[in-house]
Amino acid sequence: MVDATIDKSVPPSGPGCVECERSGGWWYHLRRCATCGHVGCCDTSPSQHATAHWKATGHPIMRTYEPGENWFWDYRSREAQRGPHLADPQHHPMTQTVPGPADRVPADWQSHLH
Ligand SMILES: [Zn+2]
Ligand SMILES: [Zn+2]
Repeated sequence: MVDATIDKSVPPSGPGCVECERSGGWWYHLRRCATCGHVGCCDTSPSQHATAHWKATGHPIMRTYEPGENWFWDYRSREAQRGPHLADPQHHPMTQTVPGPADRVPADWQSHLH
């Protein structure tokens, strides 16, 4: 996929969801914005910050931030895509748990998923 909204030079914002880190929340899987590098939590997560980032900014393409995955998602067409190699790192630290972060995931986490 070639798209003007993708900036391959921007590194991810950090190892965890920006908004969950701020609020003390937790996530299931992580997504990375292909425009600005914002890392947000997936739609299965309690707070769905990756989709909220698309709605707030209009940045239309995200990439999985999970180890071993390399797909992109276009919110406009609602289709999975292939995409270019973005700036490292490609995924959250391997030491990070799923769900994570470990010290903030409640015992009944499964009942909070979407
Ligand atoms: Zn989040
Ligand atoms: Zn963005």
